[in-house]
Amino acid sequence: MPACHMPALLAGLTLPTGMTMPPAMQLGADAGAPPPGQTSYPGRPDSVGHVDWDEIPVRCHWDDADFETYCDQAKDYMLDVWEAQVENLPWPTPFGDDGWGGDDRTDIYFSKDGAYGAYTICDYPDGWNFTDADPSDGRAGCAAHLVIDPNALDNDLDGYLAHEFNHILQFATDYNEPSLPPWEGAAVQAEEQTWAGRGSWKQYGRSYQNSPFAGLLNDGYELNATYSIYSYYEYGSAIWLMHLTSGYGISTTDLWFAGSDEGNENTTTVWDALWELTGDADAYLMDLELARALIGTDDAPAYYDGFDSGIEIQDTITEAGDYVPEYGPYNLGTVYVDVEIDDEVQLVVDSEHRSWGLVNVTDQQTTKLGGDLCTVFTGPARVGITTLGTTELNTNRNFHTLVEGETTFTLTRADDNSCYEPASGDTGAADTADTGGGGDGGGQGNKRPQDDEEPGGCGCAAASPAMFGWMVLPVLAARRRR
Ligand SMILES: [Zn+2]
Repeated sequence: MPACHMPALLAGLTLPTGMTMPPAMQLGADAGAPPPGQTSYPGRPDSVGHVDWDEIPVRCHWDDADFETYCDQAKDYMLDVWEAQVENLPWPTPFGDDGWGGDDRTDIYFSKDGAYGAYTICDYPDGWNFTDADPSDGRAGCAAHLVIDPNALDNDLDGYLAHEFNHILQFATDYNEPSLPPWEGAAVQAEEQTWAGRGSWKQYGRSYQNSPFAGLLNDGYELNATYSIYSYYEYGSAIWLMHLTSGYGISTTDLWFAGSDEGNENTTTVWDALWELTGDADAYLMDLELARALIGTDDAPAYYDGFDSGIEIQDTITEAGDYVPEYGPYNLGTVYVDVEIDDEVQLVVDSEHRSWGLVNVTDQQTTKLGGDLCTVFTGPARVGITTLGTTELNTNRNFHTLVEGETTFTLTRADDNSCYEPASGDTGAADTADTGGGGDGGGQGNKRPQDDEEPGGCGCAAASPAMFGWMVLPVLAARRRR
């Protein structure tokens, strides 16, 4: 399947071994300067011939006469892709491109410019900025084209087209979104949404499961640069978007629309969008962590059927004491450990970061840490300790950022603790994540924690997906009218 089809976007990325990035992709939307050694827009591939398809507004080009046959092969695939992604999913119709490629149609190129891979990009004739194709639609959307090097293909033209075309629709929705998971996770998900059973999500999902400490918005470039972990993490983020879509009834398109702003300043990221759509992105994140930690067990959500790559457990802890994880955590990341202590256990987090959650996989319950970042659970248990968001977290910038300072998790037996308050903390009102009832939820409500505010009392569980169901439906209805 496609191995290197970055849409985008980030300056200064280090590519995993063997991957190359076409010149047109070396810049962020707002990077402001050309890549080293280049002084002008590299432009589009050459076209020595093209074909227009009557059924959809797409023009298919080749830059070598030998490549014409790929346009012949692509037509039937593209009719399916268009139907699945433009007609059956609420992605926006691609913008016309003002004559690039010879007319207003969306352009596909079979070209050596794909550099043994494929890419999708908008033209950026305005200096090094993309151009908002409709400055009054509430979104930052541009007209993109896709390029595939036939040398990359291995009987997987269908997957390349489903994937790359989804990037065109993403560019039409929010070209400013800076982190890679919403791009690549959505494109991998779109492969499956176009032809069920033929997508690559299980292959890439393994990378996702292997590095849960990386966080919601991180990518394999960072994992390679910092930990020499070769990973398709951002592609595996389809695991996240499947949970959002199937577990919460929030489509990936809704997420993209909610994260989009007009113009070239990205004030709303997908993390902000999650707050809007779920009411509580921290609770949502812990619920996602619980769902992915159940993969490979009998309790895994049905939408992960056929995928059994369990979550990576960083350590097994057999004695009370301090624990400093070797890997991460990054912002919005989770460190999973097996705590093999047969007793009630108190967890205290010593960190400059002030918002944490506990994902108790054994009990299938999530808790926002309260008091002095402490909580109590019953061992032995498999638990994830999750870095939640704070208002200081800039998800336009800090998705590659390790939690500030050293983080120490201190585990003590609960009869030797300061935060255990069974009378007030363990109210019994906590909802487990699989309760399914309407639930009063309790906990933190839907308020984002402020910079100087510590999370509330011990023992508060995340609200259940079912609770959020009624909250988000009006929002979804509004979004789908766009
Ligand atoms: Zn991609």
